[in-house]
Amino acid sequence: MADDSRLAALADIPRSDCELVFLGTASCTPTASRGVSCIALRCGGATWLFDAGEGTQIQLQKSCVNAGSVTKIFVTHCHGDHSFGLPGLLCLIGAARSQEHPPLEIYGPERLRMFLRASLRLSYSRVLPYVVHELVGVPYMHGAYGSCPTQAPWVALASALQCSEEYGECSHGRDITADANGHWLLEAGSNSGSSSNSSLAQWSVTAAALSHTVPCVGFVLQEPERQGKLRMDYISPILARNAAGLRAAGIRVPQSLLSVIKALAPDEQYAFPDGTVVTGAEATSAPRNGRKIAVLGDTCDSSQGESAVLH
Ligand SMILES: [Zn+2]
Repeated sequence: MADDSRLAALADIPRSDCELVFLGTASCTPTASRGVSCIALRCGGATWLFDAGEGTQIQLQKSCVNAGSVTKIFVTHCHGDHSFGLPGLLCLIGAARSQEHPPLEIYGPERLRMFLRASLRLSYSRVLPYVVHELVGVPYMHGAYGSCPTQAPWVALASALQCSEEYGECSHGRDITADANGHWLLEAGSNSGSSSNSSLAQWSVTAAALSHTVPCVGFVLQEPERQGKLRMDYISPILARNAAGLRAAGIRVPQSLLSVIKALAPDEQYAFPDGTVVTGAEATSAPRNGRKIAVLGDTCDSSQGESAVLH
């Protein structure tokens, strides 16, 4: 009964154009009822995943997220409970999307590219086209745990396995270095703010190092400023008193003008039959601040100031 009341309460929450889906929240090992790290952000028909622990492809198929809609995967660090699900996940996504789509983009710390090359090649897995962008020089920041595990064997492997399109990898993966502030800019986003409906292509993504037992980052996602909402209290009376005039002018359904008015630039005008002139600035409320989401990898410290911190 408690679950029923909770579901009823959820039904009263207004739906958002963006949705976070928790596909796995367990640490270290998955259980029969709980997957390891993976969070999906759905928005505007596209999905971004954050981490892909073992069994992510099963969790994805149980969820409302369409595997074919995944366009980018962001990996916080290379611990297995955040990365062991990647090879199988690439097989699943490849089966669910058209080959005509641009390559799946994967972001993560150094060695992630090599992990995928080795696991896909040794398992003879020819997956969808993908590209790995590595964050170069993510520091080890957890002095209390001694030092970061040695990297030497990985360096040797890195020189032995080269990019192979036969196994899906595209060669345009970037090596991204940190800026003067110690941040990695992964997606520049857009400042257009011209639409009230969000598209992930407009969001920027920045990474910053976190304190963990291996090099690890958190991702900060920033949506651009969004267009204000249509002021129906202002527009509706104007439409009502112009209904006959609009029909005479060939606009049979006056409400169809709402999308036209909403699309007006702030200084653009629309003239109604009775002489009323409406500008875009008058017809919509003030622009809305973009949302900000922080998705953190494993850490003993976290930040503040975002719309949502997911850890
Ligand atoms: Zn970890």
